[in-house]
Amino acid sequence: MFFGCVIILNPRFYDRLWSHYWDFTDIKWLYGIVFIIIGIVFICYAWAKKAKDFEGKFLICTKCEETFEEKDAPSYQCPKCNAKLEDMEGFYERHPELHDGEKSLNN
Ligand SMILES: [Zn+2]
Repeated sequence: MFFGCVIILNPRFYDRLWSHYWDFTDIKWLYGIVFIIIGIVFICYAWAKKAKDFEGKFLICTKCEETFEEKDAPSYQCPKCNAKLEDMEGFYERHPELHDGEKSLNN
């Protein structure tokens, strides 16, 4: 991606190694865009890979409020206190009393 930007911004440069004067003016958009697309695809691929790592949802214990990844507790039982685990998402909406308890601790 960086190389693509360089070609678009500076399409002509002298190559000392080959004693050759490169002129990418005519093809700079083609090459520049190709390199930028390669860069974007690479970044998207890295993001997709990262997102896949975080695919597993989080569970929270209804008793000790410890959080676990679903893969660590597939039976929905707390590995610590054996209480039932629930989805982290919307947990405090379903259990507002626990949310209040957390708040009073902070205050
Ligand atoms: Zn627990």
